[in-house]
Amino acid sequence: MEIVIENLAKVYGNAHAVRDFSVTIAKGEMVALLGPSGCGKTTTLRMVAGFIKPSAGRIVVRGRDLTGLPPHKRDTGLVFQNYALFPHLTVAENIAFGLRRRGVPAAERDTRVANMIATMQLTGLADRLPRQLSGGQQQRVAVARALVINPSILLLDEPFSNLDAKLRESTGLELRRIQRELGLTSIFVTHDQNEAMAIADRIAVMNGGAVEQIGSAVDIYERP
Ligand code: ADP
Ligand code: ADP
Repeated sequence: MEIVIENLAKVYGNAHAVRDFSVTIAKGEMVALLGPSGCGKTTTLRMVAGFIKPSAGRIVVRGRDLTGLPPHKRDTGLVFQNYALFPHLTVAENIAFGLRRRGVPAAERDTRVANMIATMQLTGLADRLPRQLSGGQQQRVAVARALVINPSILLLDEPFSNLDAKLRESTGLELRRIQRELGLTSIFVTHDQNEAMAIADRIAVMNGGAVEQIGSAVDIYERP
């Protein structure tokens, strides 16, 4: 298994944001965390990314225990909710951020950023600031920033929340295409059942910090 998450939990004070979360994910699989606001999706994703320290449990990726490691020591690309682009950095600088954190030399950084700008159809926008971009362009910068480190795991927190319905659908399918092409193992947070059904291989339905059901869309929604 590519990702093994065992009994992951996060407690704030005496409130359980996430409780006893266990899931195994195969290489190249895309799993959606689906559930209403406050059910623990973002907290789970951020523990996998290393931004939040778990209260209990383990995250093992390809046999390596990542539980105590900081984000830049992990092989994970993260696309934040509302993109979280650094507002004072240009498109190119935003994309380069993770490479800098990892100490990639400037010349290689420039090449990889330029390649990613071309791949994500951001040509001509390298020197713009995030506020000078459309929602769809910002979304592509956020994905470029996550992919430029060549992650083996891609984590997405409601990546389409700023887009209108039509752009959501086309961007979702585009992301799915890239994810398949690169064989990226992905965890995708959404509160939208249709989005989860359209994009994910399996869906983990969360409620009150716990996984209630996990399976394919057919398993969960169509079997009697
Ligand atoms: P979701 O992403 O499903 O909307 P979250 O993971 O953001 O849910 O939050 C799960 C629960 O944990 C919520 O009840 C939320 O209020 C609580 N929570 C999240 N972050 C914190 C924090 N830093 N301190 C206290 N409670 C938090
Ligand atoms: P919130 O849910 O509280 O609004 P954000 O999703 O905006 O949080 O981002 C969480 C924090 O991580 C922010 O302080 C943001 O500046 C920081 N951040 C955003 N992108 C990255 C990144 N690629 N690497 C490291 N830190 C980041």
